[in-house]
Amino acid sequence: MGDRAGRQGRGPVAGLVVAALVAAGCMAGGVDQGEPQQQPAPRRSAQPDSQTTRADGTTSVAEFKQDIEDAVRLAERYWAQQFRASGQRFTPIRRVVPYSREGEVACAGQALPRNNAVYCSAGDFIAYDVNWSVAAFRQIGDAFLFYLLGHEYAHGMQVRLGIRYNFTIQQELQADCMAGAYLGDSVRSGALELEDGDLEEFREGLLAVGDDPDQPWFAEGSHGTAEQRSDSFFRGYEKSLGACGLG
Ligand SMILES: [Zn+2]
Repeated sequence: MGDRAGRQGRGPVAGLVVAALVAAGCMAGGVDQGEPQQQPAPRRSAQPDSQTTRADGTTSVAEFKQDIEDAVRLAERYWAQQFRASGQRFTPIRRVVPYSREGEVACAGQALPRNNAVYCSAGDFIAYDVNWSVAAFRQIGDAFLFYLLGHEYAHGMQVRLGIRYNFTIQQELQADCMAGAYLGDSVRSGALELEDGDLEEFREGLLAVGDDPDQPWFAEGSHGTAEQRSDSFFRGYEKSLGACGLG
């Protein structure tokens, strides 16, 4: 995956999926996280000439940081265009904050746990556990970061649009749809180039999201089954924002 500057991305990587999404009490209540309960099915062989980065831990932190920056910049640009096109003022999400310790960052007085990423509406910022995110990046691939940041950025846009559902699952599935729309539209506009395996990274990431008994604060059902999340993401990816029920 690469942005318009033509930076080379990385290809498919089989591995555990870790998708933690939103809201340490800041959106619709409760910490929302998905964790893997099993390994995805073994990936079929990559094309001989495709660029791949195996899940061997060699993907650099520098590449990770660059992908985070690219993902945030791309999301910001996308949503700025959407808001302006509909005559609305756009305000970027204020900050994107890495953290590595529990309690290092708080949202509305609630310490953010490790192994998570959130959008905090109280402070209008995205925060992510950097160690957890690097691990997911190495296991899954760069596309996961674009999805993760896209999902959290979408929560910020929901707040700006005044969207608040009664149930977390509705908020989450819409954010997945919006993340899909942002990525699909960015590919269609040429702002983002997918490489072999990137779509499969999205697919594997979404399908493998499930609960992990080691994560006691995971609430099953609060954000949708893997199938529901995948359906929402790809509905947005293929049909754009009109499919996301933004009203
Ligand atoms: Zn979420």
